[in-house]
Amino acid sequence: MTTTTTLAERLSGVRARIDAACVAAGRDPGEVTLVGVSKTHPVEAVQDAVNAGLLDLGENWEQELVPKAEGVAALGLAPRWHFIGHLQRNKVRSVIPHIASLHSLDSERLADELETRLAQANLAPLECFIEVNVAGEDSKTGVATSDVTALLAHARTLPHLNVVGLMTVAPDSHDDVEATRPVFRELRTMAHDLGLPQLSMGMSSDYLVAIEEGATLVRIGTAIFGPRRVS
Ligand SMILES: *Cc1c(COP(=O)(O)O)cnc(C)c1O
Repeated sequence: MTTTTTLAERLSGVRARIDAACVAAGRDPGEVTLVGVSKTHPVEAVQDAVNAGLLDLGENWEQELVPKAEGVAALGLAPRWHFIGHLQRNKVRSVIPHIASLHSLDSERLADELETRLAQANLAPLECFIEVNVAGEDSKTGVATSDVTALLAHARTLPHLNVVGLMTVAPDSHDDVEATRPVFRELRTMAHDLGLPQLSMGMSSDYLVAIEEGATLVRIGTAIFGPRRVS
């Protein structure tokens, strides 16, 4: 392919596909928040994205999030940062001042550390998603489906955590995107049974299926920012 597209063009293409998928599924496009995953991409790319109207951004690593969030803030821009990677407890203190949402709550010990540090820093309750390893893959983080209820019950005792939903990363579908559907459907059923309204599910390769299955946040990197710079 010789044509190059700009970030703004890719972003509006993704938004158009999200809106069309919502309409086809009988859903209001306003129910789905697009989180642009900017990992490995520089502050300049984030600046372009925010200027093109992308207000929610996701990062996976503390050592990348903190300087990037500070660099973006120094430009006078104020996107909402979502932490979507595994969060080590010793990184909690430096991450929490920067984020509006954590998609990867995956243990009681992490919940306790968040509670302590949020209280110490006098921060507002943090929006959280419990990350669920729906397919039980060894390679994936997140709690087992059988542990979600206990973790939610524990988190609900902590005043600085506001658990709003569940999150999952579907198994690599190897070009058969339909293979992700049962995973998304199971997450939706679990969230419904637990009384949780939000579902963070769907990435560049599978977000249309995730929207059909009820996603309220999709986390999209490559389709907006292009290939990642490093692996
Ligand atoms: C990297 C990442 C994404 C975005 O992946 P793309 O395939 O580039 O859209 C979404 N969610 C999580 C948890 C990620 O680590």
